[in-house]
Amino acid sequence: MLTANAFAATSATGPLGPITIERRDPGPHDVLIDIRYCGICHSDIHTVREEWGESHYPLAPGHEITGVVAQVGDAVTKHAVGDRVGVGCMVNSCRECANCLAGREQHCLNGFVGTYGSVDRDGTITQGGYSSQVVVNENFVLRIPEGLGLDVAAPLLCAGITTYSPLHHWGAGPGKRVAVVGLGGLGHMAVKIAHAMGAEVSVLSQSLKKMDDGLRLGADAYYATSDPDTFQKLAGSFDLIVNTVSAKVDLDAYLSLLAVDGTLVNVGAPGEPLALNVFSLIPRRRSFAGSMIGGIAETQQMLDFCAEHGLGAEIETIPAEKINEAYERVLSSDVRYRFVIDIATLAG
Ligand code: NAP
Ligand code: ZN
Ligand code: ZN
Repeated sequence: MLTANAFAATSATGPLGPITIERRDPGPHDVLIDIRYCGICHSDIHTVREEWGESHYPLAPGHEITGVVAQVGDAVTKHAVGDRVGVGCMVNSCRECANCLAGREQHCLNGFVGTYGSVDRDGTITQGGYSSQVVVNENFVLRIPEGLGLDVAAPLLCAGITTYSPLHHWGAGPGKRVAVVGLGGLGHMAVKIAHAMGAEVSVLSQSLKKMDDGLRLGADAYYATSDPDTFQKLAGSFDLIVNTVSAKVDLDAYLSLLAVDGTLVNVGAPGEPLALNVFSLIPRRRSFAGSMIGGIAETQQMLDFCAEHGLGAEIETIPAEKINEAYERVLSSDVRYRFVIDIATLAG
């Protein structure tokens, strides 16, 4: 067993603090990674605070991991010592069901193993990237392309793939009118990626406070959802809406903004149910959909796409001791646009 420094929650209500955790000795197919950076995803907060159900404590969150390979098992072929690598939301899956074989490990029929708070296939409970090292099967380790800094690449491992996947699936590109709801961690990557794909991009934010940033990131237009005129003015005008909001929203209001055959994809995952009126869908053959992260091959494709287009995340790098403060700032929509933990500050 290896001992790693980590920052973890010990309950749903208390602050996170430093602890040590154990990592398995690397097996033949494992890669030991010295973690350099880890992004703070809103999902970390939902999980720590048990907004999605019961959690196991201590819980070191973090699934936007980048670092450098420190050691590889004898049978590893995909990665070598010194490689710049990343780990996202999954560290394992059954690898034999139809979805795993099709590269959709996020839909593994036997349940994928999440990077933290999941029971791994050996029975241990996974711990995430707010830690100095992690041991991961080589098939769940991504290559970080040259040209992407490990700090700005970290948020791509969740925020990047979670937005790239639905944008790609629903055909964001030239001639498509795409709206992104919420300009936070996921939202700002959705804007950058949709713009790079060639779509016409609008941001729907609670206010116009971040408008300059939104336009700089690649949006063509920016609207405040607190202004009721916005919903009048934009009725029926989008082909695709990606909702990244972490809280309950009025789905019927957003569905009214879709054109014929348009789709509203929810990637935001509030703990409470959302309701909708079917008459928001029926008249214009609209769809309401969900999307969860993306497969491993698709995640590599997204990283390569981002490197090719020079897309990293907009980040604020923080030391571990600022994690609790960062959580409060995320909760008050005061994030521009992803907090990334400098893992060197975890050294014991
Ligand atoms: P985030 O950085 O906190 O961004 C969410 C944004 O939503 C905020 O910046 C804010 O943008 C807007 N917002 C927040 N509260 C709101 C409210 N009450 N009403 C209207 N708008 C509000 O969070 P994130 O890390 O991007 O994650 C967003 C959600 O996606 C979370 O629920 C997370 O768990 C989920 N998620 C899902 C997946 C998946 O696979 N589906 C993967 C990762 C994360 P404005 O200030 O611009 O309004
Ligand atoms: Zn995430
Ligand atoms: Zn499977």
